[in-house]
Amino acid sequence: MSIQEIRFFGDPVLTTPASPVVDFDKELRVLVKDLTETMLDAPGAGLAAPQIGVSLRVFVWDVDEALGHLINPVLDLSDELQDGEEGCLSFPELRYETPRAMRAVAKGFNMYGEPITVEGTEFLARALQHETDHLNGILFIDKLSADNRKLAMKEIRESEWFNLAAEKGQNIQVKDSPHTIFGRNT
Ligand code: ZN
Repeated sequence: MSIQEIRFFGDPVLTTPASPVVDFDKELRVLVKDLTETMLDAPGAGLAAPQIGVSLRVFVWDVDEALGHLINPVLDLSDELQDGEEGCLSFPELRYETPRAMRAVAKGFNMYGEPITVEGTEFLARALQHETDHLNGILFIDKLSADNRKLAMKEIRESEWFNLAAEKGQNIQVKDSPHTIFGRNT
C-alpha cells in the first residue's frame, strides 16, 4: 500500500504553486498510483499532488466511476457557470456552495508523457477546476462568497483537525491575503 498522509489547510505546501513535471519516469507513475490509492482510501473525488506534500503539477480524479489523471494541465473554461456544493480532502467535513464554470476542457499529459485532452461538464468540470487550482496554490475557500468564506474560516478554526495539526506545530501558518477576513488583524 502506498497511501499517503493528506495535508490539511494551514500546511504551506497547499498554498505554494506547484512545479511542472519534466521527467515522465517511473517516479511519476508511482506518484500517480499513490495519489489514486490515497484518493480512493479517503475516499474523495479528486486529489492533487500538493495535498500529499508533493509540489508537482499532477492530479487524479474519480468521477462517475471513471478514474483519471492529468499532468501539467491547462484549462479552457465556459462562460456559463454552475452552482453546487464543494468540499476538499484538505478541509475535512467542510462543504460550501462554490461557483464554477459549467464546462472545462483540460489539456495536458498522461503519465507516459502522451498529450491528452479531457472534456467535462458539471461535476467533472468542477473537479478539473478544483484540482487545477490546487496546482496554483488556490483553495476552494478562495472561491467562496465573502459571507461563506467567513463561515468557512470560523468552521476551520473550530475544527478538531485544524487544532490538532496546530498542536503538532504543523498548521500554525495562516496565509495572509488581500481579503480582510482572511488576514490576521491582531
Ligand atoms: Zn481539494
